[in-house]
Amino acid sequence: MARTATKLAVSPLRRRVDPDRALVNVDSIVQVERPEEPVHCLRPMTIAATAHLFTQAFPGDVLYAVKCNPEPRVLRAVWAGGVRHFDCASAAEVALVRQMFAEAEIHFMHPVKSRAAIREAFSRHGVRDFVIDSADELAKIIDETRVRRDKARLGLIVRLAVSGKGAAYDLSGKFGATAAEAVALLRAARPWAKRLGLSFHVGSQCLSPAAYTEALALTGSVVAAAGEPVEIVDVGGGFPVSYANTVPTPLSDYFVAIERGLESAGLAGKVRLWAEPGRVLVAAGVSVLLQVQLRRGNDLYVNDGIYGSLSDAGVPGFQFPVRLVRVGGPLPSPQCQSYRFFGPTCDSADRMDGPFELPVDVREGDWIEIGQLGAYGAALRTAFNGFDRARIVDVNDPPLIATPGHLPLHQPLNQSLATARRSPRFRRSS
Ligand SMILES: *Cc1c(COP(=O)(O)O)cnc(C)c1O
Repeated sequence: MARTATKLAVSPLRRRVDPDRALVNVDSIVQVERPEEPVHCLRPMTIAATAHLFTQAFPGDVLYAVKCNPEPRVLRAVWAGGVRHFDCASAAEVALVRQMFAEAEIHFMHPVKSRAAIREAFSRHGVRDFVIDSADELAKIIDETRVRRDKARLGLIVRLAVSGKGAAYDLSGKFGATAAEAVALLRAARPWAKRLGLSFHVGSQCLSPAAYTEALALTGSVVAAAGEPVEIVDVGGGFPVSYANTVPTPLSDYFVAIERGLESAGLAGKVRLWAEPGRVLVAAGVSVLLQVQLRRGNDLYVNDGIYGSLSDAGVPGFQFPVRLVRVGGPLPSPQCQSYRFFGPTCDSADRMDGPFELPVDVREGDWIEIGQLGAYGAALRTAFNGFDRARIVDVNDPPLIATPGHLPLHQPLNQSLATARRSPRFRRSS
């Protein structure tokens, strides 16, 4: 009961899934089921392979940012790929990860937490690492964990504000201490900390590796000014993936930029490096299958929209890769044209300008598969206007598009994925 509640709190996707059912492909789902509700097509092996690649290549600990996609099957795939650390931002995320993985290292990376969430994470779920960006939050954490100065046992990570330029989503507007505040916070936190760190987030879908180098230069200057050694430097998330109109530079360029940044900051070899990737690990792992309900000129009215899984196709204007799936009738025309999509709700904001390139003869009843929706797709769904229904199924298709430096489907991971599926659910008793 409690477990289901937790799962629903963080992962609102309605599921009607037979977990033992064999993997199928997207076209056969359309052929057999002719789904009239959006279907989330999960590629667990793609996610596991990407997580494996990232954990192998990144020169430090990899914390999966759970908010990006908290679906339990996604978490299991990330785990199967070798991720053992989780960046959680709420009590519900912490509880979900702990229920699923006894040995997971959970880090509470939200700079503003409720007192109840701090207490529960610390005493029920064994969380020791907390992010702060203010003295008041530090005081709350000390209070609620009843940590004693002489028995310091917390990991305290100070979040630095950095410029969000170069990223599709600027995440600097809300959180982060200035350099001067961070210096003071590091000094104030030291007596309570078993380990001390600095973190930042360059913004999501960051297309510039240099953003990490610059943020690390700032990090180095804060450490020098504080006169306190830090044990951890956390470069956050922001690692990008491909969309229909975007091909980022390979991941290895980001890792090189990070290592260079650490060196110039005088921190190489002196700190433990963390990253908090979300999007890059899971985006390619889910596509969503929609149905066209009406065509009006170049506008397609479809059964999912910005209040569903396509929030990023709205105002942020992400151009997701698309593919037409038709059963029966003539083969789709090889000639393509640009379309706009309109979502199912009555809000006129529920439109997605794309443009989305599809065959010229798209018609009512056709299906459209939209790729790269594993990140911030299902996680942002709402029930607005009654469009709360969507299913999730496992498929064995490759992703619609690959990101440079990403592995394609990776067979050896089948085994570890199967093991992760079978691993017993965990409940910590004390
Ligand atoms: C959202 C978020 C992430 C994940 O960001 P991506 O751009 O998806 O990699 C990591 N860390 C923090 C603190 C976040 O808020």
